[in-house]
Amino acid sequence: MAINKVKGTYDVLPNESHKWIKLEKDIRDILSLYHIREIRTPMMEYSNVFHRDSEGSDMVTKETYNFVDRSNRALTLRPEGTAGVIRSYVEQKLYTSQELEKVYYIGPNFRYERPQKGRYRQFYQFGVEAIGAVDAALDAEIIILAYDFINRLGLKGVKVRVNTLGDEASRIAYQKALVNHFEPYKDELCNDCKIRIDKNPLRILDCKIDHKHPSVKSAPTPLDLLNEVSKSYFDEVVSYLDVAGISYEIAPKLVRGLDYYSHTVFEIEANIEGFGAQNVLGGGGRYQNLVKELGGPDLGGIGFAFGMERLLMAIEASKLEYSKDLELDCFVITMNQPLKKIATKLLYDLRSEQFVADMNYTAKGFKGQFKQALRLEAKYIVILGEEEFQKGVASIKDTRTEIQEEVKLEDVVTYLKHKLEK
Ligand code: AMP
Repeated sequence: MAINKVKGTYDVLPNESHKWIKLEKDIRDILSLYHIREIRTPMMEYSNVFHRDSEGSDMVTKETYNFVDRSNRALTLRPEGTAGVIRSYVEQKLYTSQELEKVYYIGPNFRYERPQKGRYRQFYQFGVEAIGAVDAALDAEIIILAYDFINRLGLKGVKVRVNTLGDEASRIAYQKALVNHFEPYKDELCNDCKIRIDKNPLRILDCKIDHKHPSVKSAPTPLDLLNEVSKSYFDEVVSYLDVAGISYEIAPKLVRGLDYYSHTVFEIEANIEGFGAQNVLGGGGRYQNLVKELGGPDLGGIGFAFGMERLLMAIEASKLEYSKDLELDCFVITMNQPLKKIATKLLYDLRSEQFVADMNYTAKGFKGQFKQALRLEAKYIVILGEEEFQKGVASIKDTRTEIQEEVKLEDVVTYLKHKLEK
């Protein structure tokens, strides 16, 4: 019986992995400019890290992979990055430094969703969390970072959509207004939304089924119910975005799917051919209750996450020359066992000089090895043949110019160094 990969997962094959490596490198390089360090938390957590009373999103209630281990502990594979990071922040008491903790993470998440193009059951996200301060300048910094990151990837038409849900009082007022608004239409909404009216009416606004219902279109927006404090906080956030000169728009209907947001919420989109609604590459927002809910002090944070598969798809669709596969500087062809020993030493010396070098191990004839070198797009082919060996030389072929020269065995490394460093 053939054994297949798990439904909704994928393999990154050797000829594709360079894209992932480049994306991860870009993330690390750009984030270090913002003085943000990486945090690595486990892929599994106790289920109550995600399944909190206040959290009613489908992602957590319906889509998580839950299991019990041999000691009957309830565990969950993380469906998103934030909750695990906050669990660690609280457990490791990172708040005792009294300073803002800015971290980023890169890693796989798991959601039992219906697989489709760009939607997987194991997918990668990279995200940022800044925990321990409430400051409009910090909200702006995180938004600017998300924008800057996408811009630096080279994607076009990058734009931030930003909104606010206001503080707790504003949010409660808004939720009430939504309940009043949706109650008359209850019978026309989907079964999930019928429950959402009482549990979390904000989530009706981004329901995949009801998003076209007229009542969703005519619903009040959070901006209609902001109190003064929340309004001035948001105005300040926006004024920082103006100073930075990034491209943004206020999106009054944006609320985001998770239940823990308050104040600023945002999404980043780019103009990508053929992407349509999938132009949204990621987003995030401020949260006030999460640290407390996970047993920590009353400290808020702000963060965002980008789906990495979607970023790579966007890069591909935009036809950007983003990353190159590993380039082979030199391929060594040998014609017999003793010459293989010379080749082994030569490879070692070339690699000491930081060159990418390889040789054949499957004992093809000269022609076969030569073809292999061309297929691998080696810049230089070093031929260690019997005839050459008698003369104490190697033949070195430049595959671009097709010029071939004989070089003394002891000079091969210096010769290639000279050529490759030009
Ligand atoms: P979310 O955590 O749901 O706000 O999603 C943030 C980003 O993660 C989205 O914009 C997607 O790019 C990505 N994402 C979410 N779910 C999946 C999935 N099942 N497969 C691939 N990417 C996903």
